[in-house]
Amino acid sequence: MAKKCIGVREDTGAQCNRSASSGSDFCYRHQSQEGDTTILHRGADVYHCPQDGAELLYVPKKGYHRCKSCKGVLLSAKAIDPKYAEKISQLNEIESHQEVCPSCAEEANLSIHEVEWTWDDGGYGPFGNKYGIGSKAHYEMANVWLCNNCGSLWVPAQRSGPRRLGGRNLDLLFGWRWGLIGHSMWLDNQVKWREKRLEGEAAKERKLAKRRAKSCNHMDTSGAQCAAPKSQKSTHDQDYCYKHQPK
Ligand SMILES: [Zn+2]
Ligand SMILES: [Zn+2]
Ligand SMILES: [Zn+2]
Ligand SMILES: [Zn+2]
Repeated sequence: MAKKCIGVREDTGAQCNRSASSGSDFCYRHQSQEGDTTILHRGADVYHCPQDGAELLYVPKKGYHRCKSCKGVLLSAKAIDPKYAEKISQLNEIESHQEVCPSCAEEANLSIHEVEWTWDDGGYGPFGNKYGIGSKAHYEMANVWLCNNCGSLWVPAQRSGPRRLGGRNLDLLFGWRWGLIGHSMWLDNQVKWREKRLEGEAAKERKLAKRRAKSCNHMDTSGAQCAAPKSQKSTHDQDYCYKHQPK
């Protein structure tokens, strides 16, 4: 993606956003602004989504930048306590594929970590885990990008699970005012939550296998298993339903 001009439009005062000339941060119209340090400084705070290139919007009350298009969130190093980044760096790392830090544009120093989080379907109070009666705790995991060059975090929007993780749901990930990650037990809890999540996933898998075992073994072209019960007829192949008898 072509870099965008960080120059300022004379008519509106907004960022120009025309494609920058090669080797420059400015477009052909705004070359004259090249030496203007106030603009360069402003430019340093303009970030783009590392996943879709959209310009990130600053949310002043929260101190983070969010992507309107994918709902991912950037917590630049200025917005977070370095000790939180340090904690995340200790979590399980997964393979990265040349992802680029949205804050410093560095790719070589980026690592992706599995951050466990939990929420409760009985409601989540703003001051911690206020579990309602009969509510159920859910355990999920988010892949958080950590830039080891500048200390920024990128939290991709999570599409799995009943809630999207992103924006205000960062409170679920790190706690209201960083209360969860700031807690001395957070790293221990990560291990516990991970176990719970894996247990849950295994139970779900067992349930699914059980259901599959009862159903016809036929797979359609998209790889989905036939939901019809296996045939009980003695002359039939009893691994398949009535309709899908092997010829
Ligand atoms: Zn321009
Ligand atoms: Zn995005
Ligand atoms: Zn960075
Ligand atoms: Zn069938």
